[in-house]
Amino acid sequence: MYDLVPPSMKAQFNLINIPNQSIKLSVNLIKKKSTKKGLSDYTYNNQVIFKYSINLKNSIVLLTIYYENSNKNHFNRIVLGSFVYQTAMKFSVSTILVNSDSKSDLESLVFGFLQKDFIYSIYKNNSKKSKFKTNFKLSKNNLSLLNSINFLKELVSEPSNIIYPTSFVKRTIKQLDKKKLNIKTLNKEQIKKIGLDCLLAVSQGSNREPMVMEFSKKNQNKSKVDILFVGKGVCFDSGGISIKPSGGMEDMKWDMAGSAVTVSIIKYLSEIKTNFSYAGIVGLVENMPSGTAYKPGDIIKSYKGINVEVLNTDAEGRLVLADIITYGCEKYKPKIVIDFATLTGAIMVALGQHYAGLFCNDDKLADTLYQSGLDTNEKVWRMPLHDDFDKELNSPFVDLKNIGAGRYGGSVTAAQFLQRFVPKDTKWAHLDIAGTTWKNAGDIMNNKGSTGFGLTLIADFISKYFKN
Ligand SMILES: [Zn+2]
Repeated sequence: MYDLVPPSMKAQFNLINIPNQSIKLSVNLIKKKSTKKGLSDYTYNNQVIFKYSINLKNSIVLLTIYYENSNKNHFNRIVLGSFVYQTAMKFSVSTILVNSDSKSDLESLVFGFLQKDFIYSIYKNNSKKSKFKTNFKLSKNNLSLLNSINFLKELVSEPSNIIYPTSFVKRTIKQLDKKKLNIKTLNKEQIKKIGLDCLLAVSQGSNREPMVMEFSKKNQNKSKVDILFVGKGVCFDSGGISIKPSGGMEDMKWDMAGSAVTVSIIKYLSEIKTNFSYAGIVGLVENMPSGTAYKPGDIIKSYKGINVEVLNTDAEGRLVLADIITYGCEKYKPKIVIDFATLTGAIMVALGQHYAGLFCNDDKLADTLYQSGLDTNEKVWRMPLHDDFDKELNSPFVDLKNIGAGRYGGSVTAAQFLQRFVPKDTKWAHLDIAGTTWKNAGDIMNNKGSTGFGLTLIADFISKYFKN
């Protein structure tokens, strides 16, 4: 005999390391509005998402949530789980029982709880990747999304002595289903043969060999793919000969986040049903100073044939992207290209850590990404593209310089540089994720460290843009 609530409407979380005290949190998730007095509002950005009450009885914390919201976007749904997690932490509970009158609301709560609970702290003694375990089985798609987010966080968190181009490739291949995907890896010799010389130039100061990875959906019977994802993968960015200041340089282990987002998108897409065709490409290098490093003043012929003058070796991400955008577009003939890159410090000056910079040559694509950003809380803000910025990249001596004229507008001139390599009639969005990728204190949906920024955005975007 079941009690009144069927088992599918219940979820339980247990602390993995059992403490001495045993405080329980009992959650009731009720799908209706309540006009009861004394309820608290849960607000985010001045919007009430739900109402709740908390009562303490012996060693049980009773949390009742009244959740009836007309705008049930992804974020509004999963934030329930983050709230339950934070309540559990506040009262140091060891067991959480959730009852719900809606299975889908419960699923969202569990998803949000697990996303918030994850932390990649494997190098800390006795530390687990999560504090709680649950008996609730997520749906296949949600499980794929969560696993892909966690894989993204893992890649971004690993230091550069663990994750460098060849080890990135190995770890990624293990995560992907070869029955669903064509996977191709290019080593240094193959990259040389093809002529991705800008990418090679960036890597030539490091002992770690560069790699390129390509992915495409299997059995897509189209000569043009609907969408190509491109990722910057600088596994460590010292700045090269134009070396960075030492303070905070450790952050440059995650200068490969664009690649991590790209491969996690590919992992996720390959595990769900998709009604569109897709491909992905990532360029993996290390940017190091050494006797063999590329130098300011060097002129390199890109794969597209444009001669690029390197005026700052720390503006290396655009060189890597230039070649793989050209090569990826030539090979997969995408209708849309979306690239991800921790490209500029300037984007953090402009937008802080709460919005990624979006540069886009197509209004519908930009508007959809903007709306998905709001709906997932992986927010993007459209920045300008204009010839006035593009002109700053001209030089009397070479086709293209790798930095703009002065100190200002650095994220825009970086985007303009990339645009020179995007085929004219291709829709293109560039996401500068330098500010949003890593947050020392975490954010509303994510624990400390890697935020997994970008994947949930794209998961929502494809459902809107392709009606997937
Ligand atoms: Zn750099």
